[in-house]
Amino acid sequence: MAASSVLSSTSNFSEPVTDSLKGRVALVTGGSRGIGKAIALELARNGATVTFTYNSNLAKAEEVAAEIRTMDVECLMAQGDVARKEDARRVVSSTLEQFKRIDILVNNAGITRDHTLRKMTDEEWESAISVNLHGTYYCTTAALPAMTEQKYGRIINIASIVGQTGAFGQANYAASKGGIIAFTKCIALEYARDNITANTVAPGYTGTEMVEAMPADVLEKICAKIPLRRLAKPEEVAKAVLFLARDGDYITGTTINVNGGLLMF
Ligand code: NDP
Repeated sequence: MAASSVLSSTSNFSEPVTDSLKGRVALVTGGSRGIGKAIALELARNGATVTFTYNSNLAKAEEVAAEIRTMDVECLMAQGDVARKEDARRVVSSTLEQFKRIDILVNNAGITRDHTLRKMTDEEWESAISVNLHGTYYCTTAALPAMTEQKYGRIINIASIVGQTGAFGQANYAASKGGIIAFTKCIALEYARDNITANTVAPGYTGTEMVEAMPADVLEKICAKIPLRRLAKPEEVAKAVLFLARDGDYITGTTINVNGGLLMF
């Protein structure tokens, strides 16, 4: 299989802007690149007001903000390291100051720091857990009081197939993503009475910069094991998020797998 046939991060969505999320305010962490960018654009394309965050790459974030503004929806771009609780809380409070509510929270920001346990440093363990798991906790707990007051909230946490299967050389990442899946179920149980749902989207291998940087032969071997024989497009992960945010009123505590059939259960 040619490498180009398994790479698929280029946006190919040309659907018209709809207003199905008009009046809803969304916060997407790590919305400046990859999957988070596709999610921010998909929610905006459907009429949501969107705050998205970035950590270090201002230029990429500005590109996303410019694209959202062409859709004639309001948008706030916010810098913040989700692993720092004060940053996470500031991003949520800026959203509330500007837009007065927060309906949809997508905890997407995530990193890998791969090494086998024999070689993994404490710093690598801690940074993956801090960004992926602590970041999800900080943003969620910052947003929950407003959602509780509104009696409405849709929390969607981006985990990974690796949080379900484990992966060689990714103990820190797998633990953080497995933790997100369990954390999400607890939110679902504790906040159902407030009309707040919490679900996880677990992507498989997805064509973002990180994955596309892998050697072509490695990617081909990975794709050979995927029943659909290709990587996910970020936009395909975003579609699952849109479904939960817009149509998932009676879905809570579950995980939607977007993995091309790589893991079925
Ligand atoms: P990318 O590396 O392409 O993008 C990561 C995004 O997160 C960027 O916007 C980045 O901002 C932001 N970010 C990184 N660190 C922080 C931080 N400390 N605080 C706030 N924002 C941060 O990642 P992907 O799009 O590939 O992945 C997105 C999510 O999907 C992650 O949670 C990842 O674990 C998950 N996932 C990805 C898969 C894949 O195959 N790509 C598969 C399964 C799950 P900046 O550029 O400014 O640093």
